Amino acid sequence: MEPPWEKGAERIEHLLTERGDARELLSFYQSLLVFQKSLFDSLEEADLSASLSQDLPVLMNYFDLFLGWALEKGTTLLSSQARETSQWEKGRQENLLLSYWKGEEIPGGNFFPKAFLQPYAAFLASHEQAIRERNGQDRACPFCGGAPQVSYLQSPPSSVGAGSEGAGRYLVCSLCFTEWPINRICCAHCQEADPYKLPFYQTEQLPTIRVEACDTCKYYIKGVDLTKDGRAVPLVDEIATPALDLWAQENGYTKVELNLAGI
Ligand SMILES: [Zn+2]
Ligand SMILES: [Zn+2]
Repeated sequence: MEPPWEKGAERIEHLLTERGDARELLSFYQSLLVFQKSLFDSLEEADLSASLSQDLPVLMNYFDLFLGWALEKGTTLLSSQARETSQWEKGRQENLLLSYWKGEEIPGGNFFPKAFLQPYAAFLASHEQAIRERNGQDRACPFCGGAPQVSYLQSPPSSVGAGSEGAGRYLVCSLCFTEWPINRICCAHCQEADPYKLPFYQTEQLPTIRVEACDTCKYYIKGVDLTKDGRAVPLVDEIATPALDLWAQENGYTKVELNLAGI
C-alpha cells in the first residue's frame, strides 16, 4: 500500500466533518502525516544502506525536529514525553530507535520510534531495499516483520461493484505499510480459522468498518470494507473509529497493534 501521506490527509479532511468523536485524533494524525511526508521526501536525497544502525546518522538529523513537532502538536502526555526525550543524550535516543527496530518492548509505549521510523521503513519498502538486521516475527509483514495495523476487503479490479462477494482480504503493516493477503476467515494474530471462534462486531452508524475478534487468542484487529466505500483509507478509518476499540476492549479483546493515537 502506498504510504498514507496524501490520500490519508484527504480522507481526514473528509472525516473531520463526520466523526465528531474522533476530531482530535484525526487532526493530530493529519499533522503527523505532514511531518512524515516531509521526512520521507528528505530521504530521497540520502544514501541509505537499509541497516538502521548505519543509517542512524542520517535519520538523527531529523529527530529533534520530530520531537519539536510532538511537543507542539501532541497531547499533554506526548508533549511532556517529547520534552523529556529531547533532553536525553543522543546515544540513548538512538537506542530507543534501535530497540524498537529489533522488536523489543518499549516502556512507556512505542509512539516515538514507530511514528519516526514509519517514513524510513516505508521508504525502504517503496524502493524495495531489503531491510537488514530486523528480526521478522511469525505471521507478520513479509517485508519488515511488523505487526498488522488494520485489515481491509477489496474486490479484484474486474469485479468492482459486485459487493464483497469474491473480495480479497489484506493486512496492512503498521510500520512499512506493505500489505499482504490473508484468508477472509482467519485471525490476524493466531491464524484461528474456525468461523465460530471469530466474532465480528459492527454498528449501524459505521457499516464499512468492523471489529474482527478471535475467541481463541482474545486479540482483535479492525477491518475496513472497501467494497462498501472505496474512498476509505484503512489506516485513517481505523483511527477514526475509537468507539469500536472501546467495545472490543470492554469485551476482553486486546488489539494486535495499537494505532498512533495510542488506541
Ligand atoms: Zn512492514
Ligand atoms: Zn486469534
